[in-house]
Amino acid sequence: MGIATSNKPFDERVKEAEADNFMRASVAKSQDAQFDKRTAARRELGNWEGWRDLSAQIRQHTIKYLPDYLEEFSDNVKKNGGHVFFAKDDKEASGFIKELAIKKHAKNVVKSKSMVTTEIDLDKTLLSIPGLALMETDLAEFILQEDNWDEPTHIVFPTLHKNRDQIQKVFQKIGYTGDNVPEHMAKFVRQYLRNYFMKADFGITGCNFAVANNGMINLVTNEGNADLTMAIPKTQVVVMGMERIVPSLKEAETLDNILSRSAVGQKLTSYCSFSSAKKVGEADGPDDFYVVIVDNGRSKMLNSEFEPMLQCIRCGSCLNVCPVYRQIGGKGYGSIYPGPMGDVLSPILGGYQQFRDLPYACSLCAACTETCPVKIPLHDLIRKHRYVEMDQLHLDHSMTNALLKTVGKGTASPALFADAMRGAHIGLKTFGKKTTEKDIKNLFPEGKVNHLPAIAPKLVHGWVDVRDLAVAPKYRENFRHWYKKNQQLTEEEQKND
Ligand code: SF4
Repeated sequence: MGIATSNKPFDERVKEAEADNFMRASVAKSQDAQFDKRTAARRELGNWEGWRDLSAQIRQHTIKYLPDYLEEFSDNVKKNGGHVFFAKDDKEASGFIKELAIKKHAKNVVKSKSMVTTEIDLDKTLLSIPGLALMETDLAEFILQEDNWDEPTHIVFPTLHKNRDQIQKVFQKIGYTGDNVPEHMAKFVRQYLRNYFMKADFGITGCNFAVANNGMINLVTNEGNADLTMAIPKTQVVVMGMERIVPSLKEAETLDNILSRSAVGQKLTSYCSFSSAKKVGEADGPDDFYVVIVDNGRSKMLNSEFEPMLQCIRCGSCLNVCPVYRQIGGKGYGSIYPGPMGDVLSPILGGYQQFRDLPYACSLCAACTETCPVKIPLHDLIRKHRYVEMDQLHLDHSMTNALLKTVGKGTASPALFADAMRGAHIGLKTFGKKTTEKDIKNLFPEGKVNHLPAIAPKLVHGWVDVRDLAVAPKYRENFRHWYKKNQQLTEEEQKND
């Protein structure tokens, strides 16, 4: 799939998302439920801010010494009998894995959930090998695969946009005859996938954390499919973004703790596994163990103002509090990385041309920054993207400059300011729509602009169509007038005292 999930213009994607009432209700319900679960899980841990500080320090320290830790990790994987491949981009990463699959005569590939494999378009690359069968084994990813490779809409809950009836229909295509009860459908998939696992000869997993000082891979999951992917096939390939390193098990423990609580509101996920190449005498595990470490644009962030984004542990918490994500869901962003983390990451990894609108899909409310367990200043990075875009894309801001200059002049002059206030009052009185009792969305009486002349610029229409504006008070009733009057009264009272 690659990073981009759609080539439609941003406006079009947003309009489609806005019209999808089911998706919006589903996202809102999920955000609310996740908020409650996450809050309870964090409270239970106690001193959440202390944990956040510690986690941020671990991530910052690791990123600062990333080349050293990567080298240490790579050496230890090799010492354990595994192999490491550093891929500079998506093509190199997926190309290497394709060659390996051909070399190993892979016929049945099983995969567990991994955003970075979606980023490098691995499924499509592998499926170009004649005679190779590939199966996504994470339940949500399996649903997307069976639904004609539908796109994911959340980094932790990829099928947030589907309900149980839609999922039932997907499963009916592969022989499911039961009802839409989630447990029944999950049981069916469990049996269905078990056959694939037993004959799998090539397994691919992602990686939550790679432990530098022992060369192990740490995965936190809830379904157990990743463990089967690691245990059964003779060849295991781990694909990881180059930033997913931790110095030792101690730091992995801290980060697993905050990751599980932030991602799914659990103390710890059902499975928390560490794996490496099979050692002599061990019964389980792969004969061949490969780790593919993917750059694909990440090193551009090192030593740049966007370096804090490398701290991300992909918990999805920022998506769960974002008011824009709540309205447009994952599909509105057109990236496999949606929400605030995607607003920052997508333009870096996929380019400003492709994702130029994402830094503007943000109200800068900073709810994401407040919730991020590793303290990434997301809203600030989004704002920085806007500056960069101004320069890189040579956006024309002459109109904004002219407008701001006019506003500056108007607010600096008391006479002009008073005239502007009078004009605003008359304008909103003339073009404003009276609030009716039914019109509960309008917070300000007569503030909804409803009669804009058709000749008004599109920008003005776009701005006022979705906003309620308070009618400015009459000149003789505004704050400045009140202040002047009261100041005079106070001075007179003081004289009389
Ligand atoms: S930016 Fe922070 S909150 Fe968002 S996914 Fe990454 S770690 Fe989680």
